[in-house]
Amino acid sequence: MAKIGLKALRHSYLANPGAEEDWALRQIDLDWSDGGAYALLGPSGCGKTTLLNIISGLVTPTEGAVLFDGTDVTALPPDQRNIAQVFQFPVIYDTMTVYNNLAFPLRNRGIGEARVDIRVREIAEMLELSDLLDRRASGLSPDGKQKISMGRGLVREDVNVIMFDEPLTVIDPHLKWKLRSKLKELHQRVRVTMIYVTHDQTEALTFADQVVVMQDGVVVQIGTPVELFERPAHTFVGHFIGSPGMNVLPCEVRDGGAFFNGVQVPIDEGIGRTEGARRLELGVRPEFVRFAEAGIPVEVVKVSDAGRHRIIETRAGGSRIHLLAPLGGPVPEGAAHLAFDPARTRVYADGWLAGANSGGGA
Ligand code: ADP
Ligand code: MG
Repeated sequence: MAKIGLKALRHSYLANPGAEEDWALRQIDLDWSDGGAYALLGPSGCGKTTLLNIISGLVTPTEGAVLFDGTDVTALPPDQRNIAQVFQFPVIYDTMTVYNNLAFPLRNRGIGEARVDIRVREIAEMLELSDLLDRRASGLSPDGKQKISMGRGLVREDVNVIMFDEPLTVIDPHLKWKLRSKLKELHQRVRVTMIYVTHDQTEALTFADQVVVMQDGVVVQIGTPVELFERPAHTFVGHFIGSPGMNVLPCEVRDGGAFFNGVQVPIDEGIGRTEGARRLELGVRPEFVRFAEAGIPVEVVKVSDAGRHRIIETRAGGSRIHLLAPLGGPVPEGAAHLAFDPARTRVYADGWLAGANSGGGA
């Protein structure tokens, strides 16, 4: 196991990067402690795979350093980093049996056959591959193959970190939750540092103790699932996490108050620093919006049933505001008023939470 440090990492796939958009990773500073369960969450193209490949050594960063337990490993080749990496698509030996596929990473490191056997059977059991051990890998379904691939990542006991790059992409939906909870369980048992990359908020939030949210090659927030939900540091996090995501509404700040469509919106925390911002917005999650006698005038446009609650879409001028309401409760038709929970409403300046120490990335 090892603590992983990323110091001022920048990476461009271009020979002569200039503008910010030439960089796949714009600036990454991170410290991952030993034994943690981390998720790297962000939309396609934000730099997740690039970051993993830099940690494993498949890609050398243009600038910055990778540290394991404080030692600079930036120049070490992948096979000297003791990292297991599971890729998005299965990497297996088709002609070998499932057993030999799982045994390969261990035999490759000279582990004795007795130990190999114990370990292979343990991992096969966990991934429900026990009945298939004698089968040739080529005969398996795509998700069977990906389970082998995951098993090959999990089988070694000497790794510093296990990284999973969107490993459930090819897995059948009904198997996904099962494998995800298996991984979580395994992490709790072995306590090896695990980094799980995904664009799926549910996967990230259920697997990880700490989630690193990325956008356009930068980290926008690191936090527990609860922190990301309750206090998004950036409107992107508020919008990307949650279903539906946080309402982000244009606002005006004057006389020490925040106004939406001319109506003052109370904010417990105060407004923070907004001087010089080009764009001011209010952020409030649908969970913290309710119908009220007075407040923000809206038009109810759509009510949809979402299992345990209803999602209600309203319109206020050019803005759309979602709120959640309990099933069975009354929902006004047409014109109505909304109130936001003042403890859960915040002002964002140019995307970042306005206030002390909120801006500027990681
Ligand atoms: P993610 O895994 O989050 O989808 P990637 O790390 O794969 O993102 O990609 C980040 C950016 O780098 C994207 O703009 C992508 O097009 C670019 N990129 C990734 N791999 C390469 C490569 N081998 N050559 C050139 N550009 C690449
Ligand atoms: Mg990727």
